[in-house]
Amino acid sequence: MIVWICTDMEGLAGIDQQAQCNDPDDSPKYQYGREQLTAEVNAAVAGCFDAGATEVRVLDGHGRNQNKGFLPDRLDPRVTRVWIAQRNPLRWEGLDESVHAAAMIGQHAMAGTLHAFLDHTQSAKVICRYKINGEEHGEMSQFALYAGGYGVPLVYVSGDEALCEEARRLFPHAVSTPTKRGIGWEACELYPPDEVRANIRRDIASALRQVDRTKAWGLAPPIEISVEWAWSGGADRLARVPGVRRLDARTVAWDIADPRDVYCWPSESWRPLGGET
Ligand SMILES: [Zn+2]
Repeated sequence: MIVWICTDMEGLAGIDQQAQCNDPDDSPKYQYGREQLTAEVNAAVAGCFDAGATEVRVLDGHGRNQNKGFLPDRLDPRVTRVWIAQRNPLRWEGLDESVHAAAMIGQHAMAGTLHAFLDHTQSAKVICRYKINGEEHGEMSQFALYAGGYGVPLVYVSGDEALCEEARRLFPHAVSTPTKRGIGWEACELYPPDEVRANIRRDIASALRQVDRTKAWGLAPPIEISVEWAWSGGADRLARVPGVRRLDARTVAWDIADPRDVYCWPSESWRPLGGET
């Protein structure tokens, strides 16, 4: 049983300041954040092996980390680390039909979620709303859609209460573990990190013992992606790419045929359905 885990930092237990996720390399706060990330991954990986995993592939999905967020000397040596296999279109290494189940650790709620800690979709304060086929979604859904392209279901997530609520609403079959309660953009009530990590180990193991491959998220093409930017200039830029529709001053939409292209943004090097050269 191969498990593929995407990590982020905003939803981790022990994280209650943005600086812990985004400060420069030499910042003690950021180093503390890396410790939380590594400890939480280790808890999840232990749970995977408890449930009979033979391989656990882990992507450091927090953009700022540039895949250097894990503390190598503290990371469980059983982890297989993965990164980007190719760009344009973007493909992740090792996430394919061989994978039994997908999971997310330290994830945050979608942009515009009330009482969510550091809620955003890709770029906070830049992207206001992100939709798939007209329904609001966030980064959890993007990952579920991508994995679903290989028939792999998203079975487990950890993050704040708002993220867990988002999971129950959109992916009711998935198991979730709350790490904290969001109060405002950068305000939250942390739950005791050691207890949370014990819960993560237990809950991800339980999720892996009940994987149902029919729960993989599949959408028939064309799949419409729409993005509302915070300002019309964001939409201007994408609207110039062939195949992109302008819905209003701040909103653009485009179609994809392959669910794995959910991570592609219209540009000179990648064009959506109908805009191919
Ligand atoms: Zn992040």
